[in-house]
Amino acid sequence: ASTMEVPSLKMNNGRDMPAIGLGTYLGFDQNGVVKSKDKQLRDVVMRAIDVGYRHFDTASVYETEQEIGEAVKMKVEEGVVKREDIFITTKLWNTQHRRTEVAQAINDSLKKLGLDYIDLYLMHWPIGLNADYSHSDVDFMETWRGLEDAQRMGIVKGIGLSNFNKQQLERVLKEGTIKPDAIQIEVHLQNVQKEMVEFCQSEGVVVMGYSPFGSLVARHGSTVEGPKIDDPVLSSIAQKYGKTTPQIVLRWQIERKVVPIPKTVNPKRLEENINIFDFTLTPDEVEKINGFDTHTRYTLPSFWQNHPYYPFDKVDNPIADPFIKV
Ligand code: NDP
Repeated sequence: ASTMEVPSLKMNNGRDMPAIGLGTYLGFDQNGVVKSKDKQLRDVVMRAIDVGYRHFDTASVYETEQEIGEAVKMKVEEGVVKREDIFITTKLWNTQHRRTEVAQAINDSLKKLGLDYIDLYLMHWPIGLNADYSHSDVDFMETWRGLEDAQRMGIVKGIGLSNFNKQQLERVLKEGTIKPDAIQIEVHLQNVQKEMVEFCQSEGVVVMGYSPFGSLVARHGSTVEGPKIDDPVLSSIAQKYGKTTPQIVLRWQIERKVVPIPKTVNPKRLEENINIFDFTLTPDEVEKINGFDTHTRYTLPSFWQNHPYYPFDKVDNPIADPFIKV
């Protein structure tokens, strides 16, 4: 396997983020419990480093930090990479939103990762929860100050947000002391987020796009509406470049300067997904793909929709909270 050279994007803190990352969320079971630690992930991450991935996306709630840390450590020991070649993004969970809790949460993540700093630390949601998952009224600006403290301490090099809407991001830009380095939001061919992406980029906030394959793949175990892997429009573009349709939708995000974080545990798809830096799409093709937008979100935690900082539109029939353990 050859190693792909991955370009990078400059963040507000002056540091570089590799333009693609590996997603490592393995899912929850029916009881809302994170799937038992999948030991294969450590091998996946080691293989990913071999084929050129330098950026890994995790979160304290995914419970994958330890395996990623082990893989990085082994690859550093093997002399394949240095710590500073690797970019780790992880996230603060909603139950640790008090300013004083943030450093503790970061230290827990550092311990699991086996590292002494995190490259990018995101507030996973603007929504603060108490330990029993009832709604807390901690203002996300208080939490943001905790992230700023951590950056000043040097335990995180960059700080940012996830699942904030435009108004919430505007508030952080206005009332915060440090500008966010990045924001991680749902971006794929059915949720193009044109205005949001442009706004973030106009403020120098790098956009990371989660669930990058959109409707191409099954979601939560079932297929969803929308273009599939054999979609004729995507297939004809793919054919022109000798690529696959998943590679075309990832490249479309690269053209928009959105950092996709595709998840796979499959060795073949791991290589497929990073093999997107030897061609470019025309502006026409980018526009064509933008045309698939249906403003569809797959991550819609409507069980939190009565929280004062819920970022999305409310729905009529909210689903039950899978995090509440009965
Ligand atoms: P993705 O769009 O990355 O889709 C993952 C699915 O696609 C898996 O079933 C995977 O299966 C399959 N797949 C991967 N590559 C290919 C390919 N080339 N061809 C066909 N199928 C493929 O969705 P996710 O929702 O997992 O999002 C990616 C990452 O984004 C997460 O892992 C997480 O890190 C982050 N995320 C962040 C959120 C947030 O709130 N901030 C919310 C949701 C996700 P297989 O493994 O078998 O290849």
